[in-house]
Amino acid sequence: MIKCLKSLSTQLKLKVNSSFRPYGQCVACLAGFRGHGLCDGCFGDLPVNVDQCRRCALPLAMPAGDSMVCGDCIRQLPPFQRVIAPWRYEFPVNRLISRYKYSGQRALGKPLIDGLVRQVAEEMEREPGRRPDVLVPSPMHPARQRRRGFNQAEDIAESVSRAIGVPWSVTLVRRRQKVAAQSELDRAQRLANLRQAFSVSGPSPGRVAIIDDVITTGATARTLASVLSQAGARHVEIWALARTPL
Ligand SMILES: [Zn+2]
Ligand SMILES: [Zn+2]
Repeated sequence: MIKCLKSLSTQLKLKVNSSFRPYGQCVACLAGFRGHGLCDGCFGDLPVNVDQCRRCALPLAMPAGDSMVCGDCIRQLPPFQRVIAPWRYEFPVNRLISRYKYSGQRALGKPLIDGLVRQVAEEMEREPGRRPDVLVPSPMHPARQRRRGFNQAEDIAESVSRAIGVPWSVTLVRRRQKVAAQSELDRAQRLANLRQAFSVSGPSPGRVAIIDDVITTGATARTLASVLSQAGARHVEIWALARTPL
């Protein structure tokens, strides 16, 4: 009996040890890590998007109060009301996201997704009037999604949905199969082309949060927001893991 218990506890210890042992190097400092791609020190050093435009979450170089708005948003009011992007798209966030997206190492997206979920939950509790009716993951070209095996925006939307109890939809906005190659077009043509790339399946609920992994130029986010506004959305927010500095 004792022998049996002892063997059981050894088995348990082995199981516990194997699930917690470092299984790779920290993507930032190459030390051993215990999960999700980062050692504890590097997780604490992640570039948090503290000073940002209140409207589009663009990282700003100087300390910004809660009401600071960037030059772009002053020149032309964006078609969305708010952006939530807790991280700056800099090392090692950029490396975590590209491994998450392109190498299928989905665990590496977890610490960043957790950060987004935390911030979204806090903001919705503080301002319940902003709570969306639906989450819309930024749609990926179907052929690309087949190649990659998953759409990271859907992955993120699922986690956010579970945390705040708001449904997500992949049918409200779809990406069309064929559009002209963006690289051959000038800026105005590119924007028109991008609009053509999305089709909305019906009237949009009033409050929508578009979910994406990274906001770079913001062109896709703006286009999706205006396509949804035309379909009836009155309040559109963009929720992403990270925002690229200028
Ligand atoms: Zn590290
Ligand atoms: Zn801005």
